[in-house]
Amino acid sequence: MSYLEYDLSITDEQCEMQEAAHRFAAEVLRPVGVDLDRMSSDEVVAPGSPLHDVFAQASALGYNRMVGPPEIGGLGLDATTRHLLLEELAWGNVGLSAVIFLSSTHADVALLTGVPEAVENFGLPFYASSDGSICGCWAVTEPDHGSDTLSPIHRETTVQGRGQLIAEADGDDWILNGQKSAWVSNGPIATHAMLNVQMPPAENFGQGGVCLMPLDLPGVSHGKALDKHGMRSLPQGELFFDNVRVPKQWMVMQGEAFSPYLGAHLTAFNAGVSCVAAGLARAAYESALDYCKERVQGGKPIIEHQSVRARLFRMFSLLQSVRSFSRAVYVRNMTQIERGEPCYLEHSIAAKVFCTQAALEIATLAVQLHGGNGLTKEYPVEMFLRDATALTVADGENAALAQIAAPLL
Ligand SMILES: Cc1cc2nc3c(=O)[nH]c(=O)nc-3n(C[C@H](O)[C@H](O)[C@H](O)COP(=O)(O)OP(=O)(O)OC[C@H]3O[C@@H](n4cnc5c(N)ncnc54)[C@H](O)[C@@H]3O)c2cc1C
Repeated sequence: MSYLEYDLSITDEQCEMQEAAHRFAAEVLRPVGVDLDRMSSDEVVAPGSPLHDVFAQASALGYNRMVGPPEIGGLGLDATTRHLLLEELAWGNVGLSAVIFLSSTHADVALLTGVPEAVENFGLPFYASSDGSICGCWAVTEPDHGSDTLSPIHRETTVQGRGQLIAEADGDDWILNGQKSAWVSNGPIATHAMLNVQMPPAENFGQGGVCLMPLDLPGVSHGKALDKHGMRSLPQGELFFDNVRVPKQWMVMQGEAFSPYLGAHLTAFNAGVSCVAAGLARAAYESALDYCKERVQGGKPIIEHQSVRARLFRMFSLLQSVRSFSRAVYVRNMTQIERGEPCYLEHSIAAKVFCTQAALEIATLAVQLHGGNGLTKEYPVEMFLRDATALTVADGENAALAQIAAPLL
């Protein structure tokens, strides 16, 4: 069992799975993540990019199918084991862990709803595939509506206005028109999507629906891959819809069910972000610890200087708080969601906000402890700092999330 582990109930089998995930993270995700970070956003998604090979390898190992049961091709892991593995993958590279984690979005939601057409079209094919040929995404934000799209959890925070992806009923189908923002994770490589849409005469972002669909339908197009500051190994880009026709059964949630669904989904994803923040924070802390043992200044390794030790101790304390808080919230909320029991968004938002802010502080200290070297591409800590900044905005900017959570207390 790891020296950092507090949960003495972790079994030998879980430790073995964690070690296997760590090897994959160290041997594949970390080096490829660094390579992708240095490539242009177009190169990252181009045919032949190592991104596709890594995703195929992760898929062969089942890391994108952790939730569903073995009978359909999943690993069927409990929430604790999933948290252990996700932390390792994110330790390897945050962006790639997000590619893997988000790729099952449409399939897991299909299975969770139990809508037969959704299970058959989206859940089972994804779980039957282990070659990385199916990749999902969650397209919720829009160019003019970022935080607004996450607001409808509570009457007090729901934002009024018209969205930019509209679904209109037409016989047995829905017709989709509009677009989603350039921030859709996996957008440029996704074969399937879970889309949040609005239906006329909607007046606010709480009046919507959730549609599962393949992205090769006539009228769907992908935008250019976004060139961005952090998490550059995670491709992001717009999705456009021009008179796209989907059967009514693929709209798996609408009406009164929409806001509670959004709350549950945000609960799961914010808990997930807190978990990848734990992996990133550990990567930054460990890099700094190693460096401080090697770098000599003032005639001794810098770890022997009191102010360096104080900073490492601050990082260690934050790291262990992040890992513990994230694990507790993730396991509680994911277990309850999977049992169909109430979950607690305010806890997930607290974990997301605390863990990403702490990861940012740890990554900042890691850069400072590397001195000038921390600003160079020779060491990974400058990438960790950029990735940590991105996490504070992913799945809701932290201040906006706090505003959504406050009325729930
Ligand atoms: C790494 C990453 C991954 C992402 N993945 C996805 C994805 O998979 N799918 C997807 O659809 N989107 C995704 N996003 C988009 C993300 O959800 C949005 O960027 C986020 O919700 C903020 O929206 P915005 O960028 O439009 O900023 P805005 O909403 O414009 O916010 C700008 C600033 O205004 C503040 N603000 C906003 N509203 C209020 C208010 N009512 N009161 C006070 N302050 C307010 C915010 O706190 C923020 O500081 C991702 C983003 C990142 C960085």
